[in-house]
Amino acid sequence: MTRDVWLSRHPYLQPVADLHARVDAALAEVFIPSPAIPIWDDYLDDFYAGVPLLRSSMIAIDLNPVETAVVALVEELASKVLPGRLAKETRALHAELHQDPDAPRRAVAWLLASDSFTPACPGLLQYLGWAVLARYLHPIVKAFESWRDEERWLRNYCATCGSPPAMAQLVGTDPGRLRLLSCGRCGTRWRYRRTGCPFCETEGDHRLTLLAVEGEGGLRIDHCEACGGYLKTYNGEGSESVLLADWTSLHLDIVALDRRLKRLALSLYEL
Ligand SMILES: [Zn+2]
Ligand SMILES: [Zn+2]
Repeated sequence: MTRDVWLSRHPYLQPVADLHARVDAALAEVFIPSPAIPIWDDYLDDFYAGVPLLRSSMIAIDLNPVETAVVALVEELASKVLPGRLAKETRALHAELHQDPDAPRRAVAWLLASDSFTPACPGLLQYLGWAVLARYLHPIVKAFESWRDEERWLRNYCATCGSPPAMAQLVGTDPGRLRLLSCGRCGTRWRYRRTGCPFCETEGDHRLTLLAVEGEGGLRIDHCEACGGYLKTYNGEGSESVLLADWTSLHLDIVALDRRLKRLALSLYEL
């Protein structure tokens, strides 16, 4: 499944696809250096204790380049002709990041949930900030993936940044079928129990109920009767970049909300 085919079948996703393309084009103009890869042994105890990589005090990941790049991305976007609301919010964010020399540092700390910074447009900062962070962290996420023992994590939050999952994927064939959760922020994918709800962690009687949606290329909605949460799940392999992108299945969120299910997954699309 390619993105263009998907979009031709779901034309109502075009505005969000356009936003993506716009931000990607602006991001391509921003210099993002390669981060130093952490010394994994220093992090081992925290990993076993369930502390996500970015929240560990045992290693330091230099986020200064992210601060500079977020400011540069907002500047790049602000220099373009943008549609109404995006133009207004981008200008507000631009002003906010320049009003105080400490603002970029606080904004990035806020993205990692460690600052009380209160942005005027939290949705836009979240979206742009994580676009930069995900790109910067990509080499670390890849190295972390090959270093960590998945069996020793199996938690309901992202091993890299600590976010709840945005989506899930079922991979492999029985008896070795696995469920992977995916992070909508940093792009990490990690293994979780195959059954049970990753939000309230209820097992047993309250198994996830399946809500199949016809003609959706293997996408479905799994929901939990205990907490009412749902998780969009890709039951297939090969089209991860399209089907696990979260925004490409925003219409499933609408189906789920119509059925009074709760989105407990993290969303970058609240803008
Ligand atoms: Zn993450
Ligand atoms: Zn639940």
